[in-house]
Amino acid sequence: MRIDLHTHSRASDGTDTPAELVRNAAAAGLDVVALTDHDSTRGHAEAMAALPAGVTLVTGAELSCRIDGIGLHMLAYLFDADEPEFLRERELVRDDRVPRARTMVRKLQELGVPITWDRVARIAGEASLGRPHIATALVELGVVETVSDAFTADWLADGGRAYAEKHELDPFTAIRLVKQAGGVTVFAHPQAVKRGRVVPESVIADLAAAGLDGVEVDHMDHDEPTRTALRGLAADLGLLTTGSSDYHGSRKFVELGACTTSPEVYGEITRRATGAFPVPGAGGLSA
Ligand code: AMP
Ligand code: ZN
Ligand code: FE
Ligand code: FE
Repeated sequence: MRIDLHTHSRASDGTDTPAELVRNAAAAGLDVVALTDHDSTRGHAEAMAALPAGVTLVTGAELSCRIDGIGLHMLAYLFDADEPEFLRERELVRDDRVPRARTMVRKLQELGVPITWDRVARIAGEASLGRPHIATALVELGVVETVSDAFTADWLADGGRAYAEKHELDPFTAIRLVKQAGGVTVFAHPQAVKRGRVVPESVIADLAAAGLDGVEVDHMDHDEPTRTALRGLAADLGLLTTGSSDYHGSRKFVELGACTTSPEVYGEITRRATGAFPVPGAGGLSA
């Protein structure tokens, strides 16, 4: 079984439509794929409708959180997407991304970059708007060479010249909301140090005590020593460990299934979840 529990579609900052994503998951030989767009579940319906036979879809989202000034991402799986309190909070976080992106565009203009809001809005379409969409505009303008190159102090990195904050959840609130909606939580890439500051182990322990289910260990942003240390911490704290690609289509150089989760851990996630069931592919619509 090949299980990839962290991917993005055009519902956030991935470049595949949700339908393309599940078809690409089949082509990549995945048996299970989770769709975890940033602060959004809008891609789920299309992914379900297009799901090829042999691929199971795990519905999810990646929640933008912040604690003590440090940003972090919380993966949420198999929650009831209609549960009203969690739905309201997700929409607050997602909707606040628009004025926040407008602020970043204005800051770039003040820095002399000929970027326009219209262009960014067209790149993002209906998506949960993120820095990678602005970064794509910067690549088109020749300001930077790659999307990644826009994530520096000069441009869009946390605290960078054109950075603006967005509304984010306290991770303890996120865990409470996801559980209330019957879902399971996994701390995404907790040691992705190249993206900025990360939370200390004491915070992971506090989150575990508050009901966190697992940590993402196998991720391209974690080197081997980091993975070993995280596995030890997870064992100490009784947390599940997952592995995932964090696929973003052509916006990031990582393939579907680049890292995977064990069938045992996947089974445990599905046993704990009560908000939604994994969706087995029924053949899907033709392209
Ligand atoms: P935002 O959610 O708008 O704050 O943007 C954060 C997103 O940008 C992350 O979820 C990643 O998908 C992407 N990102 C962050 N750092 C980098 C980087 N160094 N290179 C490429 N993409 C990045
Ligand atoms: Zn992303
Ligand atoms: Fe993330
Ligand atoms: Fe992600």
